Amino acid sequence: MNNPTSEACPKCGSPLGEIVTTPTERQLQRCSNGHWNPETRQNEGCDYVKWIQVEPQELDEKCPKCGSSLILTQTKFGKKMKKCSTNTWNPETKQAEGCDYVEWINNSITESLDEKCPDCGSLLVLFTTAKGKKMKKCSTSGWDSKKKEATGCTYVEWLND
Ligand SMILES: [Zn+2]
Ligand SMILES: [Zn+2]
Ligand SMILES: [Zn+2]
Repeated sequence: MNNPTSEACPKCGSPLGEIVTTPTERQLQRCSNGHWNPETRQNEGCDYVKWIQVEPQELDEKCPKCGSSLILTQTKFGKKMKKCSTNTWNPETKQAEGCDYVEWINNSITESLDEKCPDCGSLLVLFTTAKGKKMKKCSTSGWDSKKKEATGCTYVEWLND
């Protein structure tokens, strides 16, 4: 990741502040010369805000409808979805073209890992929480929503990035 403070505000020349993540999982950088006043709910000082675009990411997964590759995109409200890479928006006809396959992703992501749990030897999964924190946990672990207790292996390793 590049240093977030190396960039200068195009409005006033002050360095930009740190990248912050909004509750809807969008990322932005404010000018360090401005700050948000939660009491007045207004920005004081320089009001420059740089929204950080999340680039669509091509996935190693095929569309179940047409077999093209899927891409991972994020809406402006921070919801993530997988959609077919052949799906495009035609601004002239104002219609979507291509394959219309869309799969909404829950706010947490689980990816299987090629690593074994040190406790029980089952495979580990990489779990990304809604806030973007990552942890490795055992694929046998689960949650019993009736008993409200964890089931299976309890191995967890938080990853600091
Ligand atoms: Zn500024
Ligand atoms: Zn498709
Ligand atoms: Zn385990």
